[in-house]
Amino acid sequence: MKIIMLGAPGAGKGTQAKMLAAKYDIPHISTGDIFRANIKNGTELGAKAKEYMDKGLLVPDELVVDLIMDRFKADDCKNGYILDGFPRTIPQAEALDKALTAVGESIDYAINVEVPDENIVNRMSGRRACVGCGATYHIKYSPTKVEGKCDTCNGDLIIRDDDKPETVLNRLNVYHEQTQPLIDYYSGKGVMREVDGTVDMQLVFDSIVAILGE
Ligand code: AMP
Repeated sequence: MKIIMLGAPGAGKGTQAKMLAAKYDIPHISTGDIFRANIKNGTELGAKAKEYMDKGLLVPDELVVDLIMDRFKADDCKNGYILDGFPRTIPQAEALDKALTAVGESIDYAINVEVPDENIVNRMSGRRACVGCGATYHIKYSPTKVEGKCDTCNGDLIIRDDDKPETVLNRLNVYHEQTQPLIDYYSGKGVMREVDGTVDMQLVFDSIVAILGE
């Protein structure tokens, strides 16, 4: 099963992607996570990506496409994957299609987690990330057991540079301009499905599972 998660930054698509990956036993591939791991490890790719990420801009397509094509070669991708944060532009979607068509495959579903902009800004202000392992939390919707400390590794929680309010507004603009056109793109292919992302995350999950079970 090959699934693409779409939705504005902060719509909760990462949380849903993780839950789906666990249920269907396929990898959750987040290009944002891959970039953050590269930044943390001080790689050249990380340094390049950080320049764009800190401003709320997209990393250039060619960097992302090479990275993801490489990731697909891993053994754990043989039964499919949940893509979270890729594709984010029409050229990325076309590159993905081209690669899949070449091996006689295609995307099964693109799921759009719908959340209005007003809710997004509100949600992002509560988002926290662990400096140690990168796990993300929300002070209201997904709090840690001990305030300010990661449940997994006990690292300190911070507000990621790209979650700061001015950057969030930039990311939303970038989303509307460059990523939202993918909704039409995948609608045209008959694989687009929408879920209401404003409800409880378990209900969002149930709606997605119902779609995948079609
Ligand atoms: P995310 O964690 O998915 O919100 O990604 C964080 C940041 O990483 C984005 O704001 C972009 O700067 C960059 N990024 C992640 N995925 C992509 C992509 N597919 N194309 C371009 N930039 C990306």
